[in-house]
Amino acid sequence: MAVRKETQFMVSLSADVVQLNATVATKLDAIRQVGQLLVKGGHIQAGYIDSMVARESAANTYLGNGIAIPHGLPQDRELILQTGIAVTQLPQGVEWNPGETVHLVVGIAAKSDEHLQILRNLTHVLDDPALIQRLVQTQNAQEIIEQLTQGESSPSVQKPTELEPGFDQQVEVQITGAAGLHARPATAFAALASAFEADIRVQAGEEIANGKSLMSLLKLGVESGQSIRILARGKDGAAALKALQNAIATGLEAEEPEAEPDLDLPALTLASKAIIGVAAAPGIAIAPLHHHHTQTLSFADTAPNPAAEAENLRRAVAAALGELTALQQQVQQQLGTAQGAIFAAHHALLADPDLIESALTQIPPNRSAAWAWQQTIEARAQSLAALSNETLAGRAADVRDVGQRVLRHLLGEVETASELPTTPVILIAAELTPSDTASLDPQRILGICTATGGPTSHTAILARSLKIPAVVGAGAAVLDLATGGTAILDGNGGCLYPQPSAEDLTQARQRQGELQVAQDGALRSRFQPALTRDGHRVEVVANIGAAPEAAAAIEAGAEGVGLLRTEFLFLGRDQPPSEAEQFAALQEMTQALNGLPLIVRTLDIGGDKAVPYLKLPAEDNPFLGVRGIRLCLQEPDLFIPQLRAICRAAAIGYVRIMFPMIATLEDLRAAKAQLEAVRVELETPPIEVGMMVEVPSAVLMAAEFAQEVDFFSIGTNDLTQYLLAMDRGHPTLAAAADALHPAVLRAIHQTVQAAEAAGKWVGVCGGLAGDPPGASLLVGLGVKELSASPASIPAVKAALRRQSLPQMQRLAQRALSCSTAAEVRAL
Ligand code: PEP
Ligand code: MG
Repeated sequence: MAVRKETQFMVSLSADVVQLNATVATKLDAIRQVGQLLVKGGHIQAGYIDSMVARESAANTYLGNGIAIPHGLPQDRELILQTGIAVTQLPQGVEWNPGETVHLVVGIAAKSDEHLQILRNLTHVLDDPALIQRLVQTQNAQEIIEQLTQGESSPSVQKPTELEPGFDQQVEVQITGAAGLHARPATAFAALASAFEADIRVQAGEEIANGKSLMSLLKLGVESGQSIRILARGKDGAAALKALQNAIATGLEAEEPEAEPDLDLPALTLASKAIIGVAAAPGIAIAPLHHHHTQTLSFADTAPNPAAEAENLRRAVAAALGELTALQQQVQQQLGTAQGAIFAAHHALLADPDLIESALTQIPPNRSAAWAWQQTIEARAQSLAALSNETLAGRAADVRDVGQRVLRHLLGEVETASELPTTPVILIAAELTPSDTASLDPQRILGICTATGGPTSHTAILARSLKIPAVVGAGAAVLDLATGGTAILDGNGGCLYPQPSAEDLTQARQRQGELQVAQDGALRSRFQPALTRDGHRVEVVANIGAAPEAAAAIEAGAEGVGLLRTEFLFLGRDQPPSEAEQFAALQEMTQALNGLPLIVRTLDIGGDKAVPYLKLPAEDNPFLGVRGIRLCLQEPDLFIPQLRAICRAAAIGYVRIMFPMIATLEDLRAAKAQLEAVRVELETPPIEVGMMVEVPSAVLMAAEFAQEVDFFSIGTNDLTQYLLAMDRGHPTLAAAADALHPAVLRAIHQTVQAAEAAGKWVGVCGGLAGDPPGASLLVGLGVKELSASPASIPAVKAALRRQSLPQMQRLAQRALSCSTAAEVRAL
């Protein structure tokens, strides 16, 4: 028999909607169960349960201390029949978010802003862990009813007379969000307040809360339109008040009822046991696991005839070079120039006469060619920590890959790729070489999971181009996984579920379907501008590496080219391209762009990147050596023809120029002076000049640099590696070299502020711009232009269209106050 207790706060809770001792496998089950209770209690129509599920994928309803408060989307409120709550008690708990277990699920159906009052009632429970423990174990539903429906105040709210001395700084603000200072805005407020040392209090009427405590803030029950006073005590109090005032002005986490469903594919949250790695290529794969073992080639260490061995080695190298040329062309045609360039770089590595010479000298008096070659390759691989560019080779894995290719020719072995299964699988490997990855057939290899490697490895780049979902850096444990059965790989969340439950398989299949719908939708709308929901326009342009890619970028929805990596014109050949050749390539691009902007980055090679004809001396620290603009300033024969070609192209199309690896004002001034001299000599029109911000000194001196350029383009790939001192291609560190690290975000924030103060705009052309959540953060930080690989443009535009600028600004504010990349990702 229902015992209904109406309180002064209109919360309705009866014993027949309190389910004790429930068990569920997943949080979605928990939401559905509590939803059924709300149906049973006559609070909602059944359709509202789907709305509760949808709400959870858009916003997390974990409140804290083992309590979650699932509720539906605001636009589905007409499915609520009568305001009320229902409770599912889960003594064994259910994982709500990684590391967060929920024991009490309080389903909320609130017709209007009673939501806030229900939360207020919950706060005295939230504050009291012993009470929660009792409610989690109790066999008496009445105990839960009494605790959740009473509106008593608790000591975490003060009276003005109880305020400690020293709160001498204050601001008055009005809370404007539709639902007042409810859970999400209060969470955002408390998180921001906690980023400051100062003590923060919030006064509403005659009650004062601790501004850093969610519980305390919720107890104030601040409603929409109500004014609050924020008080601060301590040395950064003024800054804290300003930040909080700004955050409130942009709406904190206000409800945005008109929000479209978010199909950005958040990570799957499945109950089955997961192996956590690093997300490297998006998408979901569902298939059996297959272990891929690198072929171990065995050979004799010694051989009697050194001359014959030397000849064998030369022949094997020649055969491998021919193979690489063909592979580069094939990959370029299938996947694009940047991908083909990986093998152009392999070719260049192998064509290095020093490499062959060094192996040849190790043969006499009695070593086999295979032994000598292997020694040389290993020495090279070990001395190269890794490479510095997503699209160019140079890392140890590439050297070893090239080494294996030659070794196979020496030993007359066939390629390992032919050993791959003919039925669809998720491939597990210690590491995949670029050659292995490029030869994968996406029809058969549905997913990739490697024990080592980072998200900017060549394997990851190739997997993304092949649209094979991939997780890298998953640890050696994956190598021991049993095969058989069907596994799930979540390339968005960076997880592998080796033995998922039937329910999880159903959920993953459903998500796959949703992804397909989202991708189709994004593709259809790729030519529409990236207009946020509140009408703010973001320019989305492409990163390209060769002339034919300009037309392909436009076809992908790009609104121009934000980064032309000109180094591709200089690779895979034995002398630099002439000015005429460079001009012809630029002309082809400006014609394809038909008036849309083309940002040409001057040559960014040197150091570790093998361009044999340049005869660059080896360096101990190539990433800190003569790279990018430094090389060009030292090599006028390389730089001047390129500047001439760019100036001439600027006379016939919309061309801007930018310089890479700028670390000092002297370098920038020298580069600009050379450009100006060329321009005056050619009598070509003025050209907008920008610089890459990818070195920490450029961030710290952004105010000075902003006086001397027209725009900044932030290279998050290099900026991350230089800020964190982690090689972006390092086999084990690369995973931690995360562009979402707060240090990188704060550097971007600082750069944008300096640019804005000087009236200049900031773009981002590093990998972060092509990642939809990263793109939103960047826009929230004030970035005006995003330049990404053509393939990621439809998804980036679609993601920006789904949000409003204030939403992205709030996200950015929260990200800036995070302490780790993991915290940023969890937002
Ligand atoms: C970067 O460093 O982020 C960038 C865009 O340049 P590249 O990847 O070519 O070094
Ligand atoms: Mg760079």
